[in-house]
Amino acid sequence: MAKLKVAELFYSIQGEGRYMGVPSVFLRTFGCNFKCEGFGMPKGQKSEEYLNVDPEKYQSYNFLPLVSTGCDSYASWDPRFKHLSPVLDTDSVADAIVDTLPYKGWKDEHLVITGGEPLLGWQRAYPDLLEHPKMKALKEITFETNGTQDLDVPFFDYLDRWGWGHPGNFDRQITFSVSPKLSVSGETWDDAIKPEIVARYGNVGYVYLKFVVATQEDADEAEKAVQAYRDAGFMGPVYLMPVGGVESVYHLNNRAVAELAMKKGYRYSDRLQVPLFKNEWGT
Ligand code: SF4
Repeated sequence: MAKLKVAELFYSIQGEGRYMGVPSVFLRTFGCNFKCEGFGMPKGQKSEEYLNVDPEKYQSYNFLPLVSTGCDSYASWDPRFKHLSPVLDTDSVADAIVDTLPYKGWKDEHLVITGGEPLLGWQRAYPDLLEHPKMKALKEITFETNGTQDLDVPFFDYLDRWGWGHPGNFDRQITFSVSPKLSVSGETWDDAIKPEIVARYGNVGYVYLKFVVATQEDADEAEKAVQAYRDAGFMGPVYLMPVGGVESVYHLNNRAVAELAMKKGYRYSDRLQVPLFKNEWGT
């Protein structure tokens, strides 16, 4: 049976993007191909805030400190925290997912598979998980990805059977919420912007782009990236979302980012988990 290394599993309200406000189960897989140490830092500098968190002091994600710079889900990929993420077979993951639901069965909830980067090697496990009898009534699934990982052939074929591209034949809606990393993240354009890969997601699901921005310069860089994605055949909508995993930073730039979105003709995505839940782990 396929296995997943599970960083977090919790029930909350989706705070971002297309499903903002929808009750959702979040399955956060362990591992990422990036570090995004540039968020919230002066250009060219890297955050070391997460390196100051002593992994030995924590036995659960729920008590980990928040960071205001760098990646706000650092423990989902930093190997120092891997002891917090058990390897579970898909039976156990399906049981745990359904256990988080208020009625212990699916109503209108949506499943978010996030990370880390959820499209690393874990792709092998998702067909098993999504075919599990306890998951049959689940209709809407989002993969929150950085858009750098191609779909492997078995997983592509699996997703293809859900009928995207065959109108009227939707059994399940698959969404790719792609958050490409701009230079504000500290990652490089060549590593982070992979238009052909993202265009291929569009063959098996609904795809949108969501850029984390703080300034006009970031929004201009997002616009340049959008053109590269459009040139590769990407057709979906584009969101701008304010930088800020903690309230003080988020409140500094959310209105400015909303105004940038209006100016560019893009959608605005909030981060409802910040004002609602202070972006605590497990929310
Ligand atoms: S891609 Fe996402 S999870 Fe990975 S380091 Fe960047 S912000 Fe964190």
